[in-house]
Amino acid sequence: MDVINPATAEVVGTVPGTDPAGVDVAIGRAAAAFGPWRAVSPGDRARLLRRFAAAVDAHVEELAALEVRNSGHTVGNARWEAGNVRDVLDYYAGAPERLSGRQIPVPGGLDVTFHEPLGVVGVIVPWNFPMPIAGWGFAPALAAGNTVVLKPAEVTPLTALRLAELALEAGLPEGVFTVIPGKGGVVGQRFVTHPAVRKVCFTGSTEVGKRIMAGCADQVKRVTLELGGKSANIVFADADLERAAAGAPGAVFDNAGQDCCARSRILVQAGVYDRFLELLEPAVRAFRCEDPTLDSAQMGPLISAAQRDSVTSYVDGARVAFRGTAPDGAGWWYPPTVLLAESGQEAHWHEEIFGPVVSVLPFTDEADAIARANDTPYGLSGSLWTRDLGRAVRVARAVETGTLSVNSNSSVRYWTPFGGAKQSGLGRELGPDALAAFTDVKNVFFATDS
Ligand code: NDP
Repeated sequence: MDVINPATAEVVGTVPGTDPAGVDVAIGRAAAAFGPWRAVSPGDRARLLRRFAAAVDAHVEELAALEVRNSGHTVGNARWEAGNVRDVLDYYAGAPERLSGRQIPVPGGLDVTFHEPLGVVGVIVPWNFPMPIAGWGFAPALAAGNTVVLKPAEVTPLTALRLAELALEAGLPEGVFTVIPGKGGVVGQRFVTHPAVRKVCFTGSTEVGKRIMAGCADQVKRVTLELGGKSANIVFADADLERAAAGAPGAVFDNAGQDCCARSRILVQAGVYDRFLELLEPAVRAFRCEDPTLDSAQMGPLISAAQRDSVTSYVDGARVAFRGTAPDGAGWWYPPTVLLAESGQEAHWHEEIFGPVVSVLPFTDEADAIARANDTPYGLSGSLWTRDLGRAVRVARAVETGTLSVNSNSSVRYWTPFGGAKQSGLGRELGPDALAAFTDVKNVFFATDS
């Protein structure tokens, strides 16, 4: 598989794909490694994960450079992403020694619950955030005592392969964490059908997620799905408009809009709609889409020519309010673009574009804002801006989404739960309860009658 730099369209490497027999060999090794790995004492498992975190920390610059070259991420983002893998490993290194069950009062005996690891966990990762999304799956899975097989996206395998090397260097035993590059229909599909893989942790498109969920039903296999989004950024008339407008470009154009949490629909209360657009325009024009190796870059290219064609198809024929700039020449560049929606029926308003395009639509009142925000099959993320505390609570509770920010656009903190509602997914990653998804609760009753 050729690995291409999306900023230059140059081939920067080749990675061998894995055939079906090779996938089965890797899953077999992971299954064999499971028994010894779950038997490692909690303190030692914690120490190994901390050493893995330290190895990532020592290679942040190298991992970031790989990601810039393979994914076109800005170097600032790529450093954050490598640091996020380190932090998530450190956070879940605290989990093995805290994986305690409960003692439940029952007559005639003692009832105790245990969190048992599942076995082999298959993690399927998309191309938009290759490092963090991998870490959100493999770190809690390993901490809980599972072994992991991980399939990176075909187009972005480099950082995952390097992370697997660092795991070995840190002392994780062979077979505990294996990265298997290859095609979704071969490697990912085998995670679904292979009986030794006891859970699939998938992030990607809603379409493929549905097929994985259906496939996993055959073996009643556990599944976590982190899927698409079309999140709303709701700006009420009483909000700090300057702050809301200053933050809106980053909330959708970061990572060139290839972000499942992108606030790609801006809803603005009618009375401040014109003022908000006046404030938004200079912020969009100032958004720096440039060579991602530059520290000043806020946005790089799209991942592929196909992705750029897809993004272009949403903008052609739509009402463009204003747009920023992007480099010419080689690479898959696309400028930050603001579209005006009118009916709320436009494809660019309803469908996940996964590119640097945001649509703006006015709303009348609170009820209208909630109805329009919820008029989507997705429910991953979103923001709302208001100075009215009561309204903030009411609207936050009414918007059907898994993750929401008030007077902020942040979505991800590794110590709080992350995941979607409706067709944005199933299950929650991150946060203190993530290990529940990588274990089964076993309930054991001990009779004490003599
Ligand atoms: P996909 O859902 O096609 O791919 C995500 C991962 O699943 C990749 O590793 C892919 O492998 C793998 N995969 C593909 N088909 C199968 C299969 N049948 N069985 C098991 N695994 C499979 O997403 P894309 O990357 O193609 O992106 C398409 C759209 O999905 C985006 O435009 C966006 O709308 C959405 N998306 C959402 C993301 C999110 O974080 N919520 C992330 C990425 C995409 P391979 O690389 O070989 O195709």
